[in-house]
Amino acid sequence: MARYIVLLGPPGAGKGTQAQRISETLVLAHISSGDIFRENLKDQTELGNLAKGYIDRGELVPDDVTIAMIRERLSRPDCRNGALLDGFPRTPIQAEALDKMLVEFNSEVEAVPYINVPEDVLVERLSGRWTCKDQGHVFHHIYSPPKVQGICDQDGSELYQREDDKPETVKRRIRVYMEQTAPLIEYYQQSGKLIEVDGTQSIEDVSNEMIAALFKDR
Ligand code: AMP
Repeated sequence: MARYIVLLGPPGAGKGTQAQRISETLVLAHISSGDIFRENLKDQTELGNLAKGYIDRGELVPDDVTIAMIRERLSRPDCRNGALLDGFPRTPIQAEALDKMLVEFNSEVEAVPYINVPEDVLVERLSGRWTCKDQGHVFHHIYSPPKVQGICDQDGSELYQREDDKPETVKRRIRVYMEQTAPLIEYYQQSGKLIEVDGTQSIEDVSNEMIAALFKDR
């Protein structure tokens, strides 16, 4: 059966970094709703233009738009064996829509690793984050600075601060998470799928703990 894993955690918990590591280890497609929106923004597609205002303000893109986008993405051939979902679902309505969608695919959410990080740490992490223009690699001006300031170590492209990583927007994104996404912790706890991990550990420790839990559940 295809494996669908939902990675849950507040903005700045390290979801993107961990999703990359887990998806490589488990050989699953990495589906990041934020990355898909940003690509559409860059390409100025209809979806990108629609999402832009919400993203810049640190608000959520409406559920129907986001759900349709994910449904289309999960129908592509590279998701035949399942997917690691990063940044989706983010509201109870999205979570219920995902459950229904996966029933259509004769499957279900298998596990939900939840990266728990306290709020004060999140603000510090997000406001120091720099992202590469080409492929979205991330750096932090204190915790993981690039070798050359302003340049991505991996592909040499320029680093920029995401509009929504600016301090006022960071605070709004965290508030939006607390109000709209945090209820999903209980939703997945009730179905016994939640795997809580302490996100203040090192990147390696967080991924090792999650990967061990995901292999144990098989
Ligand atoms: P992220 O990179 O996951 O922090 O996402 C960046 C922005 O994209 C969010 O602040 C939202 O505006 C939008 N976004 C990403 N995923 C979702 C989602 N599942 N539902 C609604 N909006 C989303």
